[in-house]
Amino acid sequence: MKHNISIKKAEKTKAENLDFNNIPLGRTFTDHMFICDYENGQWNNPRVEPLELIPTHPAAMALHYGQAIFEGMKATLDTEGTPMLFRPEKNAARINFSADRMGMPNFPEDLFVEGLKQLVSVEKSWIPPQEGSALYLRPFMYADEPFIGMRAATSFKFIIICSPAGPFFSKRIKLWAENKYIRAASGGTGEAKAAGNYAAAIRPTEYAKAKGYDQVLWLDAVEHNYIQEVGTMNIFFKVDEKFITPKRDGSILDGITRMSVMDILRDKGFEVKERAITIQEIRDASINGSLEEAFGTGTAVGIAYIQEIAMGNKTIHVSDESPVGLMVNQTLNKIKTGKIEDKFNWMVKVEKELV
Ligand SMILES: *Cc1c(COP(=O)(O)O)cnc(C)c1O
Repeated sequence: MKHNISIKKAEKTKAENLDFNNIPLGRTFTDHMFICDYENGQWNNPRVEPLELIPTHPAAMALHYGQAIFEGMKATLDTEGTPMLFRPEKNAARINFSADRMGMPNFPEDLFVEGLKQLVSVEKSWIPPQEGSALYLRPFMYADEPFIGMRAATSFKFIIICSPAGPFFSKRIKLWAENKYIRAASGGTGEAKAAGNYAAAIRPTEYAKAKGYDQVLWLDAVEHNYIQEVGTMNIFFKVDEKFITPKRDGSILDGITRMSVMDILRDKGFEVKERAITIQEIRDASINGSLEEAFGTGTAVGIAYIQEIAMGNKTIHVSDESPVGLMVNQTLNKIKTGKIEDKFNWMVKVEKELV
């Protein structure tokens, strides 16, 4: 289906004075946004227009009942300067998975990808060229119907905003295995990219940071023993030459980086198993010397190398180097900038003539 996306360009761009080597993370926004309104049971008026404030009624239901979901993805440039998206159809499918869980309408997946392409095409000059940098894209949907009462809203907004992100310096991180607070339980909303999940993680993350850790390692809600994930990343361990990652059980986010990393590892000849993993077995592997690497995976940072994990007053030392993690990160970055063959067919080019 061909959608009619109208375009209204900003009078001037803020991209000109941008220093790509010095971009405050998450604070710089491009000139335009993509926006579409849901009313009377359908999505209307998809458009790219100058980014501006949106008037919001104080009774807008997202503010009270939390019908709000989001996505995170990146646009990069290939060696010829053509913008590309990384597996955008996966984000299109996932936002609808989240929408289903949260009682929100689906957004047409072809319009999701077309809106992204149209917006990225307009904002092309904002895409940082260096390997490891990207234009971060934030599609999101929220209930804007003014109503006090518990039911699904009937009007929503779907918006995409963009924020350039400089090369991310991955320092090795330390995790706090959380044994009091939880992120997600089976049957809950942990597998949806729902705004409320992140609100609930803020205070426990602050506590972990106050103890000197970078992020929380979330454990299962019942026994505080099975490993789930980290902040906004999925997690992988290399034990005895083989990789393991927690299996999807409805409580972890189905990360697109996670699925891509599994493909890259298998392509390089590693065995990768998705299964239940306990924090105790990781501690045992560390003690007997078979724990070789651990890293987090997610769009925002790519790969985050894990140095150690605290479990109460015990410390699990992981490793001081992550050679396979590094190789995977470089492979991902090189695919995203067209420097090596895209053998998995992940990249979607944004046609030049779009604007
Ligand atoms: C977004 C997210 C991830 C990573 O997903 P990607 O698709 O790889 O970016 C992992 N865990 C949580 C909780 C997330 O919100």
